[in-house]
Amino acid sequence: MKIQSISSEGSGVARFDGQAVFVANTAVGDDIIAHIIKAKPKYAVGIIKKIIKPSKDRIECDCGVFPRCGGCAYRHISYESELEEKKRRVQDAFDRIGKLNIGIDETVGAEKTDRYRNKAQYPVGLSQNGDLVIGFYSPRSHRICDGTDCRLQPEEFGSLLRRIKMWVLTSRVSIYDEQSGKGLLRHIYIRKAEATGEIMVCLVVTSAGVPNRERLVEGLLEENKNIKTVLLNVNAKKTNTVLGDECVCLYGDGYITDVLCGKKIRISPLSFYQVNRSQAQKLYEKARKYADLTGSETLLDLYCGAGTIGLSMSDGVRRLIGVEVVPQAIEDAKINAELNGVKNVRFICDDAKGAAKTLLQEGISPDVIVLDPPRKGCDREVVETVAGMKPERVVYVSCDPATLARDCAVFSQLGYEVKKAAVFDLFPRTVHVETVVLLSRADI
Ligand code: SAH
Repeated sequence: MKIQSISSEGSGVARFDGQAVFVANTAVGDDIIAHIIKAKPKYAVGIIKKIIKPSKDRIECDCGVFPRCGGCAYRHISYESELEEKKRRVQDAFDRIGKLNIGIDETVGAEKTDRYRNKAQYPVGLSQNGDLVIGFYSPRSHRICDGTDCRLQPEEFGSLLRRIKMWVLTSRVSIYDEQSGKGLLRHIYIRKAEATGEIMVCLVVTSAGVPNRERLVEGLLEENKNIKTVLLNVNAKKTNTVLGDECVCLYGDGYITDVLCGKKIRISPLSFYQVNRSQAQKLYEKARKYADLTGSETLLDLYCGAGTIGLSMSDGVRRLIGVEVVPQAIEDAKINAELNGVKNVRFICDDAKGAAKTLLQEGISPDVIVLDPPRKGCDREVVETVAGMKPERVVYVSCDPATLARDCAVFSQLGYEVKKAAVFDLFPRTVHVETVVLLSRADI
């Protein structure tokens, strides 16, 4: 069968007897024989048995753990065709989910498609024969694929993992077992501030009672002089969520500092920060262009995280208001304002829905609203309240084309028109993609 398109999860899609067949790790144009592993009334799932004729998009894969590790979706096709695919997916969401007639103005690919990430969360476990494994979850499973050098991560993360592995073995640190909920070490979480080189290492554990802490810190500092802070994050819950709410600092101040769009940004473990700094800068610059600021505006940055987007625009507005639900991120945002001498700002720690309603009741009417929600997009009520504030422009930054298209459709019912859309690849080789959209009030 011939692969005709790619699904939003990155699987190739063929048609057989009028039915969609999803086959992972294929490329548009591949002619394959598939082995069907799942047959449902409306679709089937297959795996490649034989490639009869490969697609012209195919390239030699340069990674030993692809596709087993589940991180990348597109290591087997050229970056050009990956970008085409991402653009098509966003366009498709606007057409089919949003039923909106929108053209994509620009697709901004990354210069660096390897080692662009500044953050990794490695699950830790034991293999069937009891060996320590650190790596990534295989696709749709909780089986850990062992691999300490991921091509998307900075090289130095691998050497830190090897150091931690040594400490785990020599200190007899117990490993968390998902079934029983017993054991100490769950994840290793590393972040790097690209501009300053500073590194944060955080071990996610079920209890702060970790043996040989000093040895851990010493070993890490010996390994890499850029380690700025070492922490424990305590997560005792039986959950798939990686991080718990409490952090214990073992070394340093509990944060690292990066520079983004010319602003110093302090990042602590629980604050969101874009994983691809250079592409994030391009995305935020575009968001600023769309915001079209003159210096007299009130700007509302909803879902502001550590304040990054709002602060990057703060010199172009009269007043900035940021809203974010994670308390540690708001703490970072306030300090980030201070670090950069930004005074015309107010940060609110609240749910976007509640905060938007409060602001509306206070009579605050922002001229421009930036939205940057998580993948599930905005609640309908948030879109309604935002439209109720009657901003001239809404700049919507999204990491999920489907929820973006859904929310833009609601905006368009509420008197907003999508004027521009640009696609930014912040996640080369993976299935993820960012989009920024400019919506303008139709009556002005
Ligand atoms: N604009 C920031 C963060 C974007 S990520 C940046 O570019 O760095 C989305 C943010 O929304 C996260 O910080 C997350 O904690 C926050 N968030 C998730 N649900 C929320 C809600 N209901 N209300 C407010 N913020 C929320």
